[in-house]
Amino acid sequence: MARTKRGRLKQCEAWLRKNYPPRRKTILQYRRMTPPHKPIEYGGVGEEASKLVVSIDNRLGWYDSIHSLLHEWAHTTTWDIKAPTHGPEWAAAYGRIYSHWFDEGGCEESRGL
Ligand SMILES: [Zn+2]
Repeated sequence: MARTKRGRLKQCEAWLRKNYPPRRKTILQYRRMTPPHKPIEYGGVGEEASKLVVSIDNRLGWYDSIHSLLHEWAHTTTWDIKAPTHGPEWAAAYGRIYSHWFDEGGCEESRGL
């Protein structure tokens, strides 16, 4: 198992790519998202050229990092679908991912990746 938060996030990313492929080429950035005096921005997804960029703030603890990554990843699987950002399509995708990760062994499956 990865010893660092970044390493563990990479394992989670590999698991997500395998099980929940994004609709577009997607890169993951693990970085400081806001200046020090601003509240932490948990994560986000943006478009750069034709790619999707998932950003996760690297000041988050492990628990928040994973929750943010699962949340943002669900957006990559419903990107380009005409629907509210956190509408039923996104919620269904997030629900599948969340359940698989927390209740159906996804967290354990990902450790070897
Ligand atoms: Zn969102």
